[in-house]
Amino acid sequence: NVRLRFAPSPTGYLHVGGARTALFNWLLARKLKGTFVLRIEDTDVQRSTQESVDAILQGMTWLGLNWDEGPFYQTDYFPLYKEKVQELLAQGKAYKCYCSAEELEAKREKAMQEGGKPKYDGTCRDLPPQENDGRPYVVRFRTPLEGTTLWNDAIKGKISFENNELDDLIIQRTDGTPTYNFVVVIDDINMKMTMVIRGDDHVNNTPRQILLYEAFGAPIPTFAHVPMILGSDKARLSKRHGATSVMAYRDMGYLPEALVNYLVRLGWSHGDDEIFSIDELIEKFSIENVGRSPSVFNTEKLLWLNAHYIKTGDPVRLAELVTPFLKERGVDPAGGPDLVPVVKTLQERAKTMLELADGAVFYYQDGFAYDEKGAAKNFTPETPALLEALIAKLEALPALTMDSVEAVFKEICEEKGIKLGGIGPAVRLALSGTTASPGIFDMIVVFGLAETKKRLARAIA
Ligand code: GLU
Repeated sequence: NVRLRFAPSPTGYLHVGGARTALFNWLLARKLKGTFVLRIEDTDVQRSTQESVDAILQGMTWLGLNWDEGPFYQTDYFPLYKEKVQELLAQGKAYKCYCSAEELEAKREKAMQEGGKPKYDGTCRDLPPQENDGRPYVVRFRTPLEGTTLWNDAIKGKISFENNELDDLIIQRTDGTPTYNFVVVIDDINMKMTMVIRGDDHVNNTPRQILLYEAFGAPIPTFAHVPMILGSDKARLSKRHGATSVMAYRDMGYLPEALVNYLVRLGWSHGDDEIFSIDELIEKFSIENVGRSPSVFNTEKLLWLNAHYIKTGDPVRLAELVTPFLKERGVDPAGGPDLVPVVKTLQERAKTMLELADGAVFYYQDGFAYDEKGAAKNFTPETPALLEALIAKLEALPALTMDSVEAVFKEICEEKGIKLGGIGPAVRLALSGTTASPGIFDMIVVFGLAETKKRLARAIA
């Protein structure tokens, strides 16, 4: 059974980079019918907040990345970490180090002056065992002095580190708390992870972690380090490039399926295909097809995908999703035409749910001012007579349908000897207040007879 996890540190919202890592793990777990675990890495108690935990869970849920186990919280496992430190101490695989911060700083400076790498010099590595003589200590892992630690990264290929380049990692601080690289390994062993997909900012942690697996005699998971996401200027993606929080994209009117489709393509490819449903992704995703170079975040492409998903989306669902945005605009859809047909008239052209909401407002507000230029051009002395004729013909129809309404316009044009352009723009203005709106026949059908008459009459008055 394949087991994968997403292990965010709750020190902020869910970032698009984190979301992509989560997505890759989730997709592979789903594809291989494995297990996807969510683990909150909250050992840094100072920087972790409940608010961030909530934001991360909310972001995952919004994207549809459901987890099978968890969320587990590292802070619930402190007794286990303590026990594991003791285990390594008892086996001589770790040792207590009594060097003070000042001593370490002095050593580091000296090493730097001598042009060497600032690395712990091993003063306490071979002290005779001294039991609690009261001095504060940290616990260090006894890193092998020789040899190489290597792994075959599922994305980056073979990576190796010389052990003598690695420090004797501190695994427990003076205050008894465990350190990051240590707890990650304990958790991954404890939670029986078979594969670790994470950002490549962790590559340098991996040899240290592998040595810990070896010290515990535990199987080493497959590692896959995902290249970074860059902004348009090729610098690491950050706030200065625009929104980086997953939920900010929801608030800007993006659909989760658009963001998922966009994020998966940041690094992964399958031929030239751009659009993938979730089911297709689960079928086609593979870690072998994740590229080795960083990807550039491209807002235009995301917008294009979003437009696609709105255009092809289920209008009932879109109606639900647009409702909060309408409320933000002071519109209560209950007080006007059914929202689903309204959405159908707009989804073809809206690139975001905000545009969809903006486009829907006129359906629910009737006191609007007419677009000035449009009115000057299209409300002519003939307009009242034309609109009255239209009202009369619409009233005579047994039912308002696209076909029957279209037929009415044809009749009027023939009778008055005009083209559709001689009446259409005025009707458009009367109904929507604008010169760019959904189709005129669509609007009339959506409004129904009473509301259509009301709006046409207002334009004549
Ligand atoms: N908590 C780490 C992070 O947020 C992830 C560590 C891991 O996946 O091993 O970057």
